[in-house]
Amino acid sequence: MEQECMRCGKPVEGSREDYELFERMHWECFHFAFEHNLYGDIAEDADCGQPGCPVSA
Ligand SMILES: [Zn+2]
Ligand SMILES: [Zn+2]
Repeated sequence: MEQECMRCGKPVEGSREDYELFERMHWECFHFAFEHNLYGDIAEDADCGQPGCPVSA
């Protein structure tokens, strides 16, 4: 069964378990949705300061 990201609509590689864990999103998309948008409206191209933020990588 195809795993599709709820946020960007692209296929998600990886285990079903991870897919469910990140609310059926890529973890990057999950990160943006929950760490950037939900708590303080941080732009997606700005580093939110969290360890592992995809922007700083
Ligand atoms: Zn995505
Ligand atoms: Zn971030």
